[in-house]
Amino acid sequence: MGGKRRRKIIKRVIKRIPSIFICPYCGNRSITIEVNEKVNEAFIRCSKCGANDTIKYAPPSEEVDIYNRFMDKYYKETSS
Ligand SMILES: [Zn+2]
Repeated sequence: MGGKRRRKIIKRVIKRIPSIFICPYCGNRSITIEVNEKVNEAFIRCSKCGANDTIKYAPPSEEVDIYNRFMDKYYKETSS
């Protein structure tokens, strides 16, 4: 075995999750999520078409999780 292992510098790709999401109603990238950590609720709103919803979430949740729940709700509404 040849000596010390070289420390590989791993470039950490910090995936920045965009806080603006695509609106399922109008298709614009205009969804903003306001998280209220005190009550574990998030307010989702589209600045283009005005669609909005309040999502309750269980911590720890990321904005993406909240967005996914919003999408789930949307699909349930539209599929019934
Ligand atoms: Zn919209």
